[in-house]
Amino acid sequence: MSDKDCLFCKIITGEIPSEKVYEDDTTYAFKDINPKAKVHVLVVPREHYANVAELAAADPQQLAHMAQVAQNIADKEFHGAFRLIFNTGIDAGQTVFHVHAHVLTGEKLDE
Ligand code: C5P
Repeated sequence: MSDKDCLFCKIITGEIPSEKVYEDDTTYAFKDINPKAKVHVLVVPREHYANVAELAAADPQQLAHMAQVAQNIADKEFHGAFRLIFNTGIDAGQTVFHVHAHVLTGEKLDE
């Protein structure tokens, strides 16, 4: 299922351009346009879920797969070290309501 008004659904289909890092049958990863680390990638499921809790309830395997995709990116970019963030809810800074994992890597991160 996709949402016709969803920005990330449009990125996944290519209607809105993005800098692809990885894709497979279920998952798409692209560079964040406003990077907060040397490497800042967003990992998203092709299926539309509003947030990580919805995804976890509906398809935990997909959530596990996204963690593995993040690990693979960090293995390539920074000896396997990465930070994984799911902003959930407006007051936590979520601005796009298609679940996405922020993968921050490529350099040593502040604690
Ligand atoms: O967690 P949050 O919902 O705030 O994250 C949305 C992210 O999507 C932001 O980091 C923003 O820079 C990114 N973005 C993007 N490409 C767009 C629109 C937003 O990478 N076209």
